[in-house]
Amino acid sequence: MAGRSREAMGHTEVRDVRYRKGGNRELRLALWEAWGSKCYWCTKPTVFSSIQIDHIIPKDVGEPELRSLKHTHGLPHDFDLNDPQNLGPACVECNGPDGKRNRTYHAASVTDRLDRAAEHRAKVIDRVQRLGRSGKVAAHLLEAVTADFSDSDLRQEFLEVAPAVVRLLAVMDPQLLVDHQSFREVEVAVCEETGDYQRVDVTLDARGRSAVSTLEEDCDTELADLLQAPVVQLTDELRNRVTAGFEAIESSDPITAGPPTLDYLRIDVDSVDYRGSADGIEFTFNGTFEGVFTASVVRVAPDGEGTDDLQGDAVVNGTFSVVAAWDPTTELADVSAGDCTDETWEEDLHVA
Ligand SMILES: [Zn+2]
Repeated sequence: MAGRSREAMGHTEVRDVRYRKGGNRELRLALWEAWGSKCYWCTKPTVFSSIQIDHIIPKDVGEPELRSLKHTHGLPHDFDLNDPQNLGPACVECNGPDGKRNRTYHAASVTDRLDRAAEHRAKVIDRVQRLGRSGKVAAHLLEAVTADFSDSDLRQEFLEVAPAVVRLLAVMDPQLLVDHQSFREVEVAVCEETGDYQRVDVTLDARGRSAVSTLEEDCDTELADLLQAPVVQLTDELRNRVTAGFEAIESSDPITAGPPTLDYLRIDVDSVDYRGSADGIEFTFNGTFEGVFTASVVRVAPDGEGTDDLQGDAVVNGTFSVVAAWDPTTELADVSAGDCTDETWEEDLHVA
């Protein structure tokens, strides 16, 4: 309906929504919103002013490699590198040379991002087109949202006026405030001896915020304490599976794989829910993980004489679920987390 009336008014302009050099503010904003205000690669919540547009498959990839990547990821023949289908909002670290050094573009983690970009595509294009038609109020708000908040004066200016906008929103449409997502960064102690911590990013909607406040206030339990055992368990499980995965690669005849070194592990909790039962309260955490491991692999030399020392690289990702129960009759301040079950699992192992 809206589309038809606009056409009747002569506003038929449909901008070609693609990445172009310079002048991508609306596209950047639409991508940032579509991916939940997070970097599409490391999923760290990131302010808009620090977000850059990243080509999921690099825009300067050569033709033969592009053909090979299209095949790997099941992309259409006419795949356009500058289309939103190949674009993600990235933080400065992930979009820089350090962030990309170890990226393997044939990895399952890249297929996953491309699939999600394809899911967001229609929404992103629609948003960019709407933003392009913005009136005066929208243009000012857009200016405010997209300001560079590394400038402390601008930041201060924004913080002074923003509460008025939030109050206005609360009066005009309270549901919009309830629906917003917020983020918690939790540092989970994974090794008492070395003092190592694993960061877990927790995304909370209204339901999740309510669950976490119940956990913290009524059950007197910190998220970091609750997540400790499941995170340690998940990490151990990943190590074991990676070792087994290397040893099972037949083409390279590996005979042993040393203990894998964890280069990088990302754990996100995407939703937290809770429900009351006769026995107490049950909390459910659902999330995703991605890990990058390296391991030394020893295999029989191809000529059968002696052994070769090789390095194995593994990228693993999947989803997990943790159920925690609070039983008020046994111990008032104790929530016990059950096993961390990884429900889906994909791995990409290379020996070189
Ligand atoms: Zn990032």
